[in-house]
Amino acid sequence: MSFKDLQLNRPILRAVAEAGYDNPTLVQEKTIPFVLEKKDIIVSAQTGTGKTAAFALPILKLLFDKQDASKKGKKIKALVVSPTRELAIQIAENFKTYSTYTNLRTAVIYGGTSIEPQKDVLKKGVDILIATPGRLLDLHKQDIINLDYVETLVLDEADLMLDMGFIDDVKKIERLCPEEKQTLLFSATIPYKVEQLALSILNTPKRIEV
Ligand code: AMP
Repeated sequence: MSFKDLQLNRPILRAVAEAGYDNPTLVQEKTIPFVLEKKDIIVSAQTGTGKTAAFALPILKLLFDKQDASKKGKKIKALVVSPTRELAIQIAENFKTYSTYTNLRTAVIYGGTSIEPQKDVLKKGVDILIATPGRLLDLHKQDIINLDYVETLVLDEADLMLDMGFIDDVKKIERLCPEEKQTLLFSATIPYKVEQLALSILNTPKRIEV
């Protein structure tokens, strides 16, 4: 299977080719079609399998197609919640690479660092936000972040997120997004507590194992 077979569009295919990816990985083959169909999914996949592109590429495709039609101002339409700053930065770098030939804007926010520069970036407007839970809620409380336009919510490394004690924060974040949205949950393992979280916030999810 090729990336073209996965119904991605030209600007994204071009960025993927420049990144040196010849073919989709297994998790990408299995996941991308469901994301494009706007289904909720639970994916068990380890880091290193190409799981970031498995959600980033179809999210960019959906936003790119829609953006051309509506030409609306920049609102957060995709939100990726990640347990650690390092992972959040990595995910944002991937989104930036894959969106080179679009005008979609990505920003990343995380704790443990000065909040002011992050506010400045957010005020300019972003389409895609990657965030760690605490800083996200902090900026939301300060009215810097509006999650009313989120169409796709990604919970990455859900098992780690719960191990780190972010369960209440994750639930709060989910409730701050519109009820009508797509939710994608990624986790290396699916222990009982991840299963429970998925049951409580996902809508008849499709399961994908790699
Ligand atoms: P991840 O599992 O998302 O952390 O990705 C692991 C690594 O695989 C990253 O360095 C990606 O740039 C790379 N990668 C993702 N998809 C592909 C692909 N289809 N072909 C080759 N490398 C890829």
